[in-house]
Amino acid sequence: MARVYNFSAGPAVLPEEVLKEAADEMLDYKGTGMSVMEMSHRSKAYQAIIDEAEADLRELMNIPENYKVLFLQGGASQQFAMIPMNLMKNKVADYIVTGQWAKKAYQEAQLYGKANKIASSEDKTFSYIPDCSDLPISEDADYVYICENNTIYGTKFKTLPNTKGKTLVADVSSCFLSEPVDVTKYGVIYGGVQKNVGPAGVVIVIIREDLITEDTLPGTPTMLKYKIHADNGSMYNTPPAYGIYICGKVFKWIKKMGGLQAMKERNEAKAKVLYDFLDQSKLFKGTVRKEDRSLMNVPFVTGNEELDAKFVKEATAAGFVNLKGHRTVGGMRASIYNAMPIEGVQKLVEFMKKFEEENA
Ligand SMILES: *Cc1c(COP(=O)(O)O)cnc(C)c1O
Repeated sequence: MARVYNFSAGPAVLPEEVLKEAADEMLDYKGTGMSVMEMSHRSKAYQAIIDEAEADLRELMNIPENYKVLFLQGGASQQFAMIPMNLMKNKVADYIVTGQWAKKAYQEAQLYGKANKIASSEDKTFSYIPDCSDLPISEDADYVYICENNTIYGTKFKTLPNTKGKTLVADVSSCFLSEPVDVTKYGVIYGGVQKNVGPAGVVIVIIREDLITEDTLPGTPTMLKYKIHADNGSMYNTPPAYGIYICGKVFKWIKKMGGLQAMKERNEAKAKVLYDFLDQSKLFKGTVRKEDRSLMNVPFVTGNEELDAKFVKEATAAGFVNLKGHRTVGGMRASIYNAMPIEGVQKLVEFMKKFEEENA
């Protein structure tokens, strides 16, 4: 068996321990004589899995009692519609557009009400986070929306925007559980889990209870109402059962590693190895304004498309895979999520040094 160093932006690397445990339990989950995949979601054994997953997530993120945790389907993209359908009481929302995912959310919201783009970094290919300390927040805005970590461009909000008292909604798909978070600053925190938490097919929504109401936009499908899922403990219909089980294992792994503060330190140390190298390299350059750099997604270029392609090809052959940048930006991107060991980044940097010497 040969495992590669997988720098994919998502679906992405998972802790090896978690994969091994899942393999061990594949045919017989704790004496039930069946796989979790084959189990009724109404069974005692499964109820224990989802309850424990929620409890561990609550503990890790220190989620207050007045927030619900929902395990849903449809990916992060379905939330682009679900959020306005459930939250747009005045049919007005303010969007900060810092990348493709924020832009898609902003465009989707326009289907349901007045979505205002109150800030953007599109003028410089989303390579920075705009100053959000004093934005023209709409007086009747139902919420202010951000994508906290921009997976494609490699930027991250280091300070949350000043929403002037309005509810903050954040897509944290690519920075979920990468560092401690103050849940009370948000109305909704959500993320597709396939970047940092588990297998594709699950989206986790952490939502303050007062935002969960019957009062959704007319025509909102039952399946897209937060209330129906909240009232039914994420089991209105069959949940993405196996995916939630793996997320639960990842929560346990993070707890064992020391929780979110330990994750943050580990992620900072890891990202530093790569950024320090990029900052002194004569060949490779980071593409993001330094103070806005993400700990999770690190885009870089040589400035020469042919050389970029050569690098990606040789890196792949050497066991460093999925380093090709997003199709809209080109170059390279190393996604170094929680489960990427520091050795993976150290070895990548060694490889980059060698490539730099050979191609000087
Ligand atoms: C990947 C990603 C999405 C889209 O996720 P899907 O689950 O494919 O819908 C949305 N937002 C961010 C920040 C992402 O990284």
